[in-house]
Amino acid sequence: MPYLDNFNRPISYLRISITDRCNLRCVYCMPPEGVSWRLHHEILRYEEIELIVRAAASLGISKVRLTGGEPLVRLGFVEFVRMLARIPGIDDLAMTTNGTLLAEYAAELAQAGLKRVNVSLDTLQPERFRQITQRGEFATVFEGIYAAREAGLVPLKLNTVVVRGLNDDEVVDLARLTLEGDWHVRFIEWMPLGTNAAWASDGYVSVGEVRRRIEDALGELMPAKVGVGNGPARYYRFPGAVGTIGFISPISEHFCYQCNRLRLTADGRLRPCLLSDYEIDLRTPLRQGADLAEIRELLIRSIGAKPERHHLDESVSPRERAMSEIGG
Ligand code: SAM
Ligand code: SF4
Repeated sequence: MPYLDNFNRPISYLRISITDRCNLRCVYCMPPEGVSWRLHHEILRYEEIELIVRAAASLGISKVRLTGGEPLVRLGFVEFVRMLARIPGIDDLAMTTNGTLLAEYAAELAQAGLKRVNVSLDTLQPERFRQITQRGEFATVFEGIYAAREAGLVPLKLNTVVVRGLNDDEVVDLARLTLEGDWHVRFIEWMPLGTNAAWASDGYVSVGEVRRRIEDALGELMPAKVGVGNGPARYYRFPGAVGTIGFISPISEHFCYQCNRLRLTADGRLRPCLLSDYEIDLRTPLRQGADLAEIRELLIRSIGAKPERHHLDESVSPRERAMSEIGG
């Protein structure tokens, strides 16, 4: 049974950023002045993460998502997936990726025990893809998406962060994909984090607005159920469509009351809430020889520190880290 936090929420999900490095530079994710990567020794070793996941599993955490930075740029990632897939109690092992290296690794990852992937895709226009990511090839990402579907890493969800003036004019085109095939597209509200926070007032688009624009163009959406990994998204589909549309609204309609997760940063900090800078250091105790029982206690402390909700509506936004360091 998952451990309950102080607000009776069962904590069953750990999101792990395994690297702060990325081969893209999405304008809404990385600070405009660029990022300086953490040094090698600051990043948790795979064995250290494995011990944390074992401790988490002993507390009833059954779902792990690997993210970054870009998880696939870290060497030895496939073997690391294999290590985690063997941990008893972890029955849902997923990854969030930008898709650029998926074509190369999808089959191996599935074979190693990865169950599903979410791919970030903010545009269907190759030129715009380059503009948003500041590098990267749209066609390569699509090859990756098809390779992942082929390898059985499904249901594969496409995540689109909607930013005004950047890609908000494409929400109807992205939604139309779900009429054309088995696509699951989720629209996510852009969140002010780190030094990108200044963008908030200009870039933010509520999912309510996104939904209105989609329904005005394509007709009414009906509530839908999606098999696994629902998380905070609300799902809909057009009548008769195979694909689904999800809306994730951390800002306009926060879903904190059903938050079930902890986050681990690449440098070994447990973050009870994405939108608060409060963190608990696991790396120092790990390197001083902490065993599973001690790490378990720190996980329990982190669960106990989960706030009831975030306070973005009172203009309290996290400043310390960019999204690429926390993993989304
Ligand atoms: N590199 C991988 C990727 O892009 O999928 C994993 C890490 S990325 C930080 C995880 C997710 O966070 C992506 O879907 C990305 O679009 C999203 N993201 C990044 N910055 C964001 C922001 N400020 N607000 C909302 N989502 C954001
Ligand atoms: Fe990299 Fe993902 Fe951030 Fe884009 S959203 S810069 S791919 S970490």
